[in-house]
Amino acid sequence: MYAQMPTKEFPKFWFKMETKVIRSYRRKRTISARVVDGKMHIYAPVGVADEKLTEVIRNFEKRFERQKLKEELKSKENLHSVAQKLNKKYFGGNLKIGSIEYVSNQNKIFGSCSCRKRTIRISHRLASMPQWVRDYVIVHEMAHIIQPNHSQSFWEIVCRYKLTERARGYLMAKGVAEE
Ligand SMILES: [Zn+2]
Repeated sequence: MYAQMPTKEFPKFWFKMETKVIRSYRRKRTISARVVDGKMHIYAPVGVADEKLTEVIRNFEKRFERQKLKEELKSKENLHSVAQKLNKKYFGGNLKIGSIEYVSNQNKIFGSCSCRKRTIRISHRLASMPQWVRDYVIVHEMAHIIQPNHSQSFWEIVCRYKLTERARGYLMAKGVAEE
């Protein structure tokens, strides 16, 4: 069947992106994808079943969407300069931050911090929340660089940020847990 029609184009309403499937006899097993001019090109062996292919395409789609979201967030806001401002205000500018960035694979927690590497990851969900909530999350993660746990001395640091309690209530209502 595919011998006559090795290439198949899918309109946008079928998948989230315009998708073109290019089947090849030379390909044995692997399916790969790349975006060409906003269109997703899928390279697949001739014999792959449509159901399998659809599943794989949906996964590629998710991956490309995450990438796109990440790039959008990056261009929208420089988290590093936000963190530097908060550093000055609440940590006397003394905190060394390795890196800080938005990530799109943290839906249930608002952020995380690797204390050893001093890297902070902020859930992309924060980008659409009020700035004072986002600032709280950044201060929270920054405080983890000093205190990896949620001990009393940790909260003493975090509470230098005056809107801490309000922000915690806001996040709880949104169903985002702290880490
Ligand atoms: Zn925490």
